[in-house]
Amino acid sequence: MIKISSLKKVVIGFRKFIKILIILVIAAVLILGIIKVTYKQTYSVSLNGEVIGYTQDKVALQKRINDYINTGNGDNVAFVEVKEMPEYTACLLKNGIETNDDEIFNIVTSSGTQYYKYYAITEDEDEKAYVKTFADAESAVNQLKDKKSTNSDKLGIVEKYSTEQVEYKSVETCVSELYKEKKVVVASVPKATYTGPSVATSLGISLVKPVSGTISSRFGIRSRDNHKGLDIAAPKGTAIKAAASGTVTFAGFGGNGNGYSGYGYVVAIKSSSSVTILYAHCSALYVKSGQTVSQGQVIAAVGSTGISTGNHLHFEIRVNGKAVNPQNYIYN
Ligand SMILES: [Zn+2]
Repeated sequence: MIKISSLKKVVIGFRKFIKILIILVIAAVLILGIIKVTYKQTYSVSLNGEVIGYTQDKVALQKRINDYINTGNGDNVAFVEVKEMPEYTACLLKNGIETNDDEIFNIVTSSGTQYYKYYAITEDEDEKAYVKTFADAESAVNQLKDKKSTNSDKLGIVEKYSTEQVEYKSVETCVSELYKEKKVVVASVPKATYTGPSVATSLGISLVKPVSGTISSRFGIRSRDNHKGLDIAAPKGTAIKAAASGTVTFAGFGGNGNGYSGYGYVVAIKSSSSVTILYAHCSALYVKSGQTVSQGQVIAAVGSTGISTGNHLHFEIRVNGKAVNPQNYIYN
């Protein structure tokens, strides 16, 4: 008997305990629910002990700040020196109060020293002009070389870092400011005086530009010879694309034996039964005789081989063996 009654007591006590526990759990869930609706888990962010804002994702925010500090903005800011990094403290933020990652990012990064990256074009080690990218600097120097500016050999490019922004110049401005012409000035390219058929006959094929560049000599009568093609100036090594598909009938160095004397390294492509296109003065050839090429395929590189005074493509279209003005069909 004694045993049974004591067991009853324990059971009753245990039931009471379970009831209280259930009530406590429900209360806790309700309180947490209310907190969740009213507050969000946040980090307060401080810089030098001063709260500058709140973020919900401290990892993402700090990564964004680190990336900017280390590698800049992908534009002209190269990197940033920051003395103090922000500190994050977990807190609950009342819903409705906004986090401000962008503002924090700006405050932290602007508290540091920004280093700008740019390029100086130098002449005899003197910094003559500043441009934003290496590509701009290279383009300006190459253009000056192509124009045979007399200071071409003294030009250089130097990578620069500065805490202050400098005035960047456009490639065109650099070229015009740095250009120094020779005493003997080559007259501007005259329009061809050659009078071919006034209405160009259709080639029967469509063309794409083999290179982009400036026209340096047109088809037609020049001072000493009848120019059979169109010259397009471009830096050495510029890819030459097939203006039209076809079969390579010649790829090699032009000479008396093959009928391409003076053409330097030249590719001839038969692009239809009547049309053959020549690409001359190349620095390199990428196709072989007998090979078929597709339109736009890179076949050679611009150079100045053969009888040539500078890097350019001599582009010549022959219809039934007779040279026609390429500008009747392209570059017009
Ligand atoms: Zn030419």
